[in-house]
Amino acid sequence: MPIDMSPDEFKRLGYQVIDTLAQRLAELPDTPTRSTIPQELSDALLNEEIPQDGTDPESVIQRVADEVLPYPMGNVSPGFFAWVNSTPSPIGVLGELMSAAHNASTAGGHHSSTYIEHAVLNWLKQIMGYATVAGGILTSGGSTANLTALAVMRHVKATHNVREHGMRDQHMVVYTSEQGHLCIQKSIEVLGIGNQHLRKIPVDADFCMNMDALKAAIAQDRLDGLHPVCVVASAGTVNTGAIDPLTEIADLCEAENLWFHVDGAYGGVGILAEQVAHLYAGIERADSIAIDPHKWLYVPIECGCTLVKDANTMRDTFSLMPSYVRDDGGMPWFMELGLQQTRQFKALKLWMTFQHIGINGYRELIARDIDLSSLLQLKIKARENFELIAAGELSITCFRYAPSGVGNLDALNQEIITRLQEDGRVFTTGTVLNGQQVIRACIVNFRTQEADLDRLLDVIDEIGAEILVE
Ligand SMILES: *Cc1c(COP(=O)(O)O)cnc(C)c1O
Repeated sequence: MPIDMSPDEFKRLGYQVIDTLAQRLAELPDTPTRSTIPQELSDALLNEEIPQDGTDPESVIQRVADEVLPYPMGNVSPGFFAWVNSTPSPIGVLGELMSAAHNASTAGGHHSSTYIEHAVLNWLKQIMGYATVAGGILTSGGSTANLTALAVMRHVKATHNVREHGMRDQHMVVYTSEQGHLCIQKSIEVLGIGNQHLRKIPVDADFCMNMDALKAAIAQDRLDGLHPVCVVASAGTVNTGAIDPLTEIADLCEAENLWFHVDGAYGGVGILAEQVAHLYAGIERADSIAIDPHKWLYVPIECGCTLVKDANTMRDTFSLMPSYVRDDGGMPWFMELGLQQTRQFKALKLWMTFQHIGINGYRELIARDIDLSSLLQLKIKARENFELIAAGELSITCFRYAPSGVGNLDALNQEIITRLQEDGRVFTTGTVLNGQQVIRACIVNFRTQEADLDRLLDVIDEIGAEILVE
């Protein structure tokens, strides 16, 4: 098979792809959120021999339609309430196709993709309250966005040049809350700081970082001769959507000369929603912020973003271009601001979604998810067999199926989650809060409607009742 295609052939196959995807969109409301892939199929896919001479492209596309698309993770569907994985904007999906065809490596340089990325970064900086002179880069996701920011922190806070000398004798200590994301620990490990030097500070009843405990931990580490360098605050934890007290942490970081980083991978852009914007006061004082456009900005996976207030520190951390050859009047290359050289043109899908719905569209969509979550919380309170455990202020709700007289609620709720996932009509996960097994429902989905909330609770009620009569 020749690799290239004539424009006509490309068009014909492109229509086949679009028809297939449009068909799936049409079927979404009436399809289970998740259908388990049959074992024979997953085995066959896993063990397939290397294709020898190639196949006609129609049948390759048809195989994707038959063997891949029917067994999704579920997050494109309105009945998905599990992890912070959103449904993609349709224009972002088309943007992904267009950027792939364009295939520019956005390492930097004087071509259109560089300017589009700088433009969307400027928009994201403005949303988060940063000046447009701040530094920024799109990353694969929130984990790399946090890693990139913490690498800059490490470079700035080290007492010698860590790029030359490594981490020898640094004794850095980083603070985050017990509810902080696991990727912070991964970053601390990868950066050579060591997880023994990551303090997981206890939280208050609202799952926000306890300031007294934070202050005490910093003081103790100083007494012990260690080097406190950074507080990682969460602007939206994945368990409950808790936002740490950002202004207080900013004040403390200023007084203690610590780097203030905000992990806003899930919740950062929640600042756009009027009803919760006040919770973000102080975020603009952060030295760095991680956000994840592939979550609440609805672009297809992958797209994360690191913002660093002092753009020069970012360049100092990563650039291998000697300062005497840098064109400081011009824009730095993205390869000087992060880990990658060849870089996907991720900015296009985000740029196109912004163009399509506007910042006001985003405001409404995010506010709507928060309203839906409040509604879910009301419904849980109104139902007899349910108990509301954590009513997050963003779009995450934790609750239990708790009919009166049942002894082991942890086991019951664990079993409900397992069966609900096998059932597939709706899809969600659980978490453990204060030692209790809870069911967690997260809404980052512009397709979710009120009826889906009822469906979620109905299915849980049905499955729960089934388990109890067994
Ligand atoms: C999702 C998330 C991360 C990790 O981001 P990925 O895009 O999954 O790598 C980190 N922190 C928070 C708060 C998140 O919600």
